[in-house]
Amino acid sequence: MSGVLPSRRHKTFYLETFGCQMNVHDSEKVVGTLIQQGYRQVETVEQADLILYNTCSIRDKAEQKVFHRLADYKKLQSQGKKFGVLGCVAQQEGVRIFERAPHVSLVCGSASYNNLAGMLVQLERAGEAAHEIPRPAGESAGLRNDAVVVEDEADDESAGLWADATHFSRTKRARNGAPTIRDSQLETRDSGLIRITGLDDRQTDKCFETEFTARTNPHRGYITIIEGCDKFCAYCVVPFTRGKERSRTSQSVLAEARQMADLGYTEIQLLGQNVNSYKDPAGGAGKSRSRKSFAELLAAVGEVPGIQRVRFTTSHPRDFGRDIVDAIDAVPTLCDHVHLPVQSGSTRMLDAMQRLYTREQYMERIAWLKAAKRDIAITTDVIVGFPGETECDFQQTLSLLDEVGYDGVFSFKYSPRPNTPALKLEDAIPEEEKAQRLEVLMAKQRELQTIKNRNYIGTISEVMVEAYNDSRDQWIGRTSQNKTLNFTVASATRPRVGTYTAILVTGSFPNSLIGEMMPAPASNVMTTKTELTWK
Ligand code: SAM
Ligand code: SF4
Repeated sequence: MSGVLPSRRHKTFYLETFGCQMNVHDSEKVVGTLIQQGYRQVETVEQADLILYNTCSIRDKAEQKVFHRLADYKKLQSQGKKFGVLGCVAQQEGVRIFERAPHVSLVCGSASYNNLAGMLVQLERAGEAAHEIPRPAGESAGLRNDAVVVEDEADDESAGLWADATHFSRTKRARNGAPTIRDSQLETRDSGLIRITGLDDRQTDKCFETEFTARTNPHRGYITIIEGCDKFCAYCVVPFTRGKERSRTSQSVLAEARQMADLGYTEIQLLGQNVNSYKDPAGGAGKSRSRKSFAELLAAVGEVPGIQRVRFTTSHPRDFGRDIVDAIDAVPTLCDHVHLPVQSGSTRMLDAMQRLYTREQYMERIAWLKAAKRDIAITTDVIVGFPGETECDFQQTLSLLDEVGYDGVFSFKYSPRPNTPALKLEDAIPEEEKAQRLEVLMAKQRELQTIKNRNYIGTISEVMVEAYNDSRDQWIGRTSQNKTLNFTVASATRPRVGTYTAILVTGSFPNSLIGEMMPAPASNVMTTKTELTWK
């Protein structure tokens, strides 16, 4: 489906995304919704009528970053630009955002995206009406502006998105008709301030299913299978910001996968805060036989003609079943990679974190993965400095790294979050101690990865070609194990982005591999448990 889009007014918007893959994909759907409402995406705030931030509140730094951005661009309000805050910070802070940043007109939480189209209509109408209200000379918002300025924002990811009409896909489902505006609240003040809120609570049953999704990559794309989270880990805001768990039907997920395959996508990543707790809501009694477990859905997506790679994230050890490993064994398109966040190697800490498993139970899942037919790369998340974490607990996390031999670890200093049970815990760890533990853990994992990646030298891996790095004269590829494999090409034949090709690994670093493109087509390569060989 290419870019013939309904166009009413050609207002422009700029959208910046902070945080995880869920947020990146939500932004793809937000962009789809906006384009459907007649907006056009632009690449700078200066070009935009509407400036949107899709926010993350998983750690304090990520949250502060959005207020920093809002403060940076406040001056543009005088040019008539409107500002909106979407996502987790919007849900968490709600109308308090209007106090901290009075130039914001729209606050829409992650659980309310379903109402976004209606809110945009309100915003436009209110904008037109407000334009007609004379504003007393010199009147300011009348509210405090104490937007926070952040000095150190180094470790938070952000991704700017812009729509490319060729990647624009229309979801095959019934049109919803005119956007509904009943679920959001509008307040237009005499001062001309417009305040629109969409702040459904965690009880919402709605999923964010859009008619259009503006995917940013034409070869691999995300599909949300479950929204929200019911786990309530003691440190985590997600259950409060993203609402309760609600799964999409397997029919709807499979229809989207087939549609993406028709559009030329070959890699799909299934998304959810806890994909393992997926519960297919399809049908009543008569249809109940068609309900799929997560492992069955995974296998079914892997069997969609044209799909060559399927990934999924995130898994939760409590809900991670052996049937998932069986599915990976049975369906070659399921990638050799599982991200299984552990958070701590100490059962005592896991209990305090309310993770609902012990170190031994976690290691049982690792044993299943290691017994698989293919060599499955395992990555994880770790939090250091959770309240009460002793040196002994931390040492247990370090010993777990040795025991598992992870291919990658995302490690974080514990950050206290609003509403979470951990806020009430005593024995806070000083910031310097957290930083020191993080450094020790990262150094250790770097050493382990250095050794692990060396073992790939001399093997052959299939990669999806992702891009060309001009400055290094190297192509960037990604293996099924989710490793970055940069490679050179000896012949004059240049690989095409989005295709699959076989690479001989010639060198390694802690976070990537390097290699040379093989002359034979990738379809001649197969992987075995111990090594990669030619057919
Ligand atoms: N649902 C996924 C899970 O259970 O792993 C992802 C949750 S979150 C987006 C990704 C990671 O952020 C978590 O696995 C955890 O390591 C980290 N995280 C969450 N809350 C945190 C907090 N308050 N402080 C530090 N790290 C946190
Ligand atoms: Fe947060 Fe735990 Fe849910 Fe992951 S499983 S989103 S860490 S509450």
